[in-house]
Amino acid sequence: MSGIMIYQMRQVITMKFEIPSKVETIIHTLEAAGFEAYAVGGCVRDALLGRTPNDWDITTSATPEQVKALFHRTVDTGIAHGTVTVLLDKDGFEVTTYRVDGEYEDGRHPKEVTFTASLEEDLKRRDFTINAMAYNDEHGIVDIFDGVGDLQRKIIRCVGNAHDRFDEDALRILRAVRFSAQLGFGIEENTARAAKELAVNLKRISSERIHTEFNKMLKSAHPDYFSVADAIGIMEIVLPEYHVMSAQDKAFVGALAKECACLLPERYAAMLFMSGGYSEEDPADTAKRVLKRLKLDNDTINTASMLLRFGMLEITDDESRIRHIIYETGDKNILRILDFRAAYEKCIGNDIADVRRMYDICNMIFERGDCVSLKNLAITGKELIAMGVPAGRQMGEILNSLLMLVLDNPQFNDREQLSKEALKILNS
Ligand code: ATP
Ligand code: MG
Repeated sequence: MSGIMIYQMRQVITMKFEIPSKVETIIHTLEAAGFEAYAVGGCVRDALLGRTPNDWDITTSATPEQVKALFHRTVDTGIAHGTVTVLLDKDGFEVTTYRVDGEYEDGRHPKEVTFTASLEEDLKRRDFTINAMAYNDEHGIVDIFDGVGDLQRKIIRCVGNAHDRFDEDALRILRAVRFSAQLGFGIEENTARAAKELAVNLKRISSERIHTEFNKMLKSAHPDYFSVADAIGIMEIVLPEYHVMSAQDKAFVGALAKECACLLPERYAAMLFMSGGYSEEDPADTAKRVLKRLKLDNDTINTASMLLRFGMLEITDDESRIRHIIYETGDKNILRILDFRAAYEKCIGNDIADVRRMYDICNMIFERGDCVSLKNLAITGKELIAMGVPAGRQMGEILNSLLMLVLDNPQFNDREQLSKEALKILNS
């Protein structure tokens, strides 16, 4: 581990951070072989801010082949773009050769890259000043674009000419807002102006790249910065379903997103909560359509849609009714729905005691093991067939009637009782 100290022209500030020993090992191994190597980008930014970095990326003058020759276990993560993952025990670290980027395409990477021997060139290709700093023990912080100053001023500013940088890769426009939401920073004036001018180019950016940034924004402390993205013109292009809402509704869904659990389905559901007022479509269907378009995974799509479908369900303390509701919403979904509902009630200034009570009753029902689905019914389809019930539609109807009976009266969930009931239905 190592500490660092930064000396600036006018003021002396001390900022210490520690880099993981495995990162040091990689840097030292590359240096011992005669190459340059630095921790770079987000990890330097986060370490300076006292945040825990997501991952530690390393930039080096060594080519991918040279990196591979120095470490036992490596993965060719993006070799054409200069990235090799070095594996140390179970941890992987991306080591990328200093490079200059060509034009960005729809993927994660630019269409073509040129390797370079200059760290400065590599830092120049990066999006924002706060993301364009490098660090190693020997040289301390390499900060050519005053990233440290911008961290102190709490601003997001492009490296170089903002217009050119956004023109090269429009995703950076959305990234500016994402970092602003994660860090609570403002966007510098020229950067904001250029972002507005070029936001329309986000049309050309792939859904995968867009949802990666949206996801990070929604999981940040400021999911409500969707409104910042909107003011820049981003939402009109990538999420018109949000853009068309009134200022009041946007403020409400932002507050709801902040109030509800920091999970993607909840946060997406919050953002689309008021969308029903702007189209004929049910918000649950809007969520499905929008999140499919953004190419989110099925679990996120289905859960967000489920929260919107059932979010406004009846709040009750009647246990039978609650068992029916658990059956209709599907297993433990109800707990998530009620959490979401509590956030909604809080947002509109209501007491949440009733929602909490229903939540507790649900938990009690789960703990007691009451039958709340066909799979927990004390009689099976096979057993009904043995009793002479024909397989098919009638079987389905009988099972369903038995389940309804058991949801009302859990004590009826007994094979003998249910066989009698089944025969009664069959003979009626
Ligand atoms: P996070 O903590 O979310 O991982 P990060 O800063 O590490 O944030 P990444 O998307 O992982 O962001 O990118 C790593 C680094 O690569 C950035 O810090 C930045 O220097 C550079 N970078 C990433 N995407 C771009 C881009 N589209 N244009 C220019 N530079 C980029
Ligand atoms: Mg990163």
